[in-house]
Amino acid sequence: MVRRAEVAAVDPLARSVTTTDGERIAGDVLVLAAGSRAAPPRADGAEAHAIPLYTLDDAGRLRDRVVGRYREAAAAGTVRDGELTFVVAGGGATGVETAGALAEMCRGALRVEFPGVDPAGSRVVLVGHGPRLLKGFADHSGGYAAEVLRDRGVEVRLGVGVEEVGPGHVRLGDGTRIDTRCVVWAGGVRASGVAEGCGLPLGRGGRVDVRPDLTVPGFPGVLVAGDLANIPGPDGRPLPQLGAVALQAGRSAADAVLRGLDGAAPEPFRYHDKGMMAMIARGAAVAEVGHGRHVVRGRPAFAAWLAVHAALMSGVRERADAFVRWAWEALAPSHRAPGLHLSEEGRIDWDEEAGRSDDPGA
Ligand SMILES: Cc1cc2nc3c(=O)[nH]c(=O)nc-3n(C[C@H](O)[C@H](O)[C@H](O)COP(=O)(O)OP(=O)(O)OC[C@H]3O[C@@H](n4cnc5c(N)ncnc54)[C@H](O)[C@@H]3O)c2cc1C
Repeated sequence: MVRRAEVAAVDPLARSVTTTDGERIAGDVLVLAAGSRAAPPRADGAEAHAIPLYTLDDAGRLRDRVVGRYREAAAAGTVRDGELTFVVAGGGATGVETAGALAEMCRGALRVEFPGVDPAGSRVVLVGHGPRLLKGFADHSGGYAAEVLRDRGVEVRLGVGVEEVGPGHVRLGDGTRIDTRCVVWAGGVRASGVAEGCGLPLGRGGRVDVRPDLTVPGFPGVLVAGDLANIPGPDGRPLPQLGAVALQAGRSAADAVLRGLDGAAPEPFRYHDKGMMAMIARGAAVAEVGHGRHVVRGRPAFAAWLAVHAALMSGVRERADAFVRWAWEALAPSHRAPGLHLSEEGRIDWDEEAGRSDDPGA
């Protein structure tokens, strides 16, 4: 039986959940797999003025914001201070991918769509706290990502954080002020709200600390899988929040439930690590393959990224469609992006926003 509902509360001792419409559902086994959400930004004003990037809705809002800015600039016939400056906070895979995609849009599709807007007026700035991009990947993969992004016109600022976000600016830790009306927050993830206050032991990132077999000490019949769990890897450190980990852990949790029906204990989850990939921009990606972390980069890694992500889609037709469309866009860019329409909510009343500004210089 499948029930579509939002879980409001979890009782792990009773192995039950209560939905927002008040229904209580109990079982012999409770499997929690409610994933992550964007971590709350750690900069003044970011909650109100930055766009988090986690869900499809977030991505739609960002697209609307970017296209809306270009539309405003085209209508005004000039680019006002920071109007086409896009700041991405976070030097991990999400920040790198977003900055690369924004740079592509500014140089390609948006340039074609808004020929009257001076291309020199647009700017993409990627701000990363750490000394290099793509933490978790090899050092030289981070260096390669920075090189590709700079080559595509992205200003990469490392070793400094965003400390304040206003409606018309950001301020960095070193005091630098950047005028901008579009800040993307790509500062990591945190466990979904389901974990909070449920009584299970929480560790790093607000995630549930589980044993290697995905069970929770002191809570028989409870399993936690995917991004919601800190699953110990072979070296004892938690496995990363990745789709591959979540998919394999999901299968392992299902196996454990089936084994339980036969009275057998769950087996430890063994993550089969096939490596990690990050897309940087069109035709450029890094892939670290297998246990030995063999590094592939450039076009071969980009093609591998497309193939892997298409293969992860459900349904043969979706996979084939995605692969053909992405490959076509990558190899024969028309520079006219089909998705550049603007939803009604995305239309921005510039004067209204300027009136709300608490920043005289904005
Ligand atoms: C921008 C971005 C890019 C990424 N790129 C990659 C990548 O290239 N490769 C990769 O391997 N990983 C990538 N990841 C990570 C990957 O998406 C996650 O590791 C994976 O989705 C985790 O799977 P999950 O099933 O644990 O959680 P999720 O996929 O987050 O699924 C959790 C589900 O639980 C639901 N849920 C949450 N709360 C409730 C509630 N209260 N009641 C009911 N339902 C609820 C959610 O709506 C969601 O459907 C990326 C993540 C982000 C944010």
